[in-house]
Amino acid sequence: MASKSVLVVGGGPAGSAAAYWLARDGHDVTLIEKKEYPREKTCGDGLTPRAILQLDDMGFDFDVPEFHKITGLRSYAGDDLMLEMTWPDHSRFPNWGGVIRRSDLDEQVARLAEKEGVKVREKTTAAPVIEEGLLTSVALANGDGSETINPDITIIADGSMNRFGRELGTERRRDYPMGMAARGYYSSEMSTDPFLESQLDLRDSTGATMPGYGWVFPLGDGTVNVGVGLLSTFKRWKHVNTTHMMNDYVDHGAPDHWGLSEESRLSKPMGGKLTMSFSKGPLVGANWITIGDAAGAINPWNGEGISYAYETGRIAAEYVGQALGSGDHGVLHRYPQRLQDEYGLYYKMARIFVKLIGYPSVMRTLAHTGLRNRPLMEWTLKVMANLLDEDEKQMGERVYDSIAAVVRTLPVA
Ligand SMILES: Cc1cc2nc3c(=O)[nH]c(=O)nc-3n(C[C@H](O)[C@H](O)[C@H](O)COP(=O)(O)OP(=O)(O)OC[C@H]3O[C@@H](n4cnc5c(N)ncnc54)[C@H](O)[C@@H]3O)c2cc1C
Repeated sequence: MASKSVLVVGGGPAGSAAAYWLARDGHDVTLIEKKEYPREKTCGDGLTPRAILQLDDMGFDFDVPEFHKITGLRSYAGDDLMLEMTWPDHSRFPNWGGVIRRSDLDEQVARLAEKEGVKVREKTTAAPVIEEGLLTSVALANGDGSETINPDITIIADGSMNRFGRELGTERRRDYPMGMAARGYYSSEMSTDPFLESQLDLRDSTGATMPGYGWVFPLGDGTVNVGVGLLSTFKRWKHVNTTHMMNDYVDHGAPDHWGLSEESRLSKPMGGKLTMSFSKGPLVGANWITIGDAAGAINPWNGEGISYAYETGRIAAEYVGQALGSGDHGVLHRYPQRLQDEYGLYYKMARIFVKLIGYPSVMRTLAHTGLRNRPLMEWTLKVMANLLDEDEKQMGERVYDSIAAVVRTLPVA
């Protein structure tokens, strides 16, 4: 491989976006994906307006039949209390989202990168070769054999398990929150519904509150993505079985209009971890940089990771491009500060919020109070989906501080 080349490890949203933007700037980029497209990824398949903007910038074709357009969010607290909200208008982001299976989305975005000149190598696994703590080369293995290559810079986009990064010493901060979620596919006559739906007051068969939330995301093709999630800020989270939680949600939590049942189930629930709030570090080494779930980039407010994978991939591509252009890898070390500037305060507020909702009684109180107050919920949707406009941000911070102060006085379970 020629010098001044970039190797991207992992062909999910983060890796494909980084590869796309670097190749568009004329760099020599190889993207390594251990699976073959179309490959499954355990996910809710939901895209907010932030993700839509990034996809649009990369020339994604929203007219493909696999893409289902979403106009807003419907939230429930129990059976009767419901509020439907459309995505807000924003000066930069569109006022619509989408749902598309990750097997389709990730293949289509990888092909967009390929069109820009990225060499996409599927069914190939990358492993770091480390000498005296430094990444000296990368070993690639596939069914046909193995080879070692020497990229100038390696971008680590290997997802939440992050084996490549961990070998280089990246670690998750244990004092930061983490999410756990499971999803499965069901057939449903409501599949063309244009709303994402969430249940904020989950109960088990005895009516007891469960920590976490449930969702139904319609795919527009006769099927829906159904899932449950919870946060590590709940005291007993390690003892929660998300498959049982999912069964309880399907049996008692999801509204009847979806027609969910054992009979309409199309796939077994699959679970995964959500690494959030930039809980992983270091984010940069002498000749490598981490993005997406490998950097712990998921938004703790709502568990959304696809848009942050695209965004961190794009931001990292800027610094990698500058480092290649100037020959000074020190430029990479500006990346953590840039992430701090973009997301630091917002994610800090989220960490306080998720600590509070780790108490099921607080979560229940907030859901029941909020869903009775449309203006408050519309504002909450903007905050949680990171869709506050510039002029709303300062007000947002003040309102947030007030809410946090009130919530701290609530009784906790
Ligand atoms: C149950 C669940 C539901 C979710 N729902 C949503 C949602 O609705 N909306 C949302 O925005 N986010 C959601 N998320 C989060 C979202 O899935 C992730 O944030 C997103 O996939 C991160 O993208 P990524 O590119 O960083 O990592 P990934 O999508 O995990 O991609 C990593 C890629 O790297 C490849 N790879 C790994 N190791 C190697 C290696 N050594 N060599 C070569 N290739 C390798 C993997 O095969 C994979 O393709 C959900 C997560 C879970 C677990």
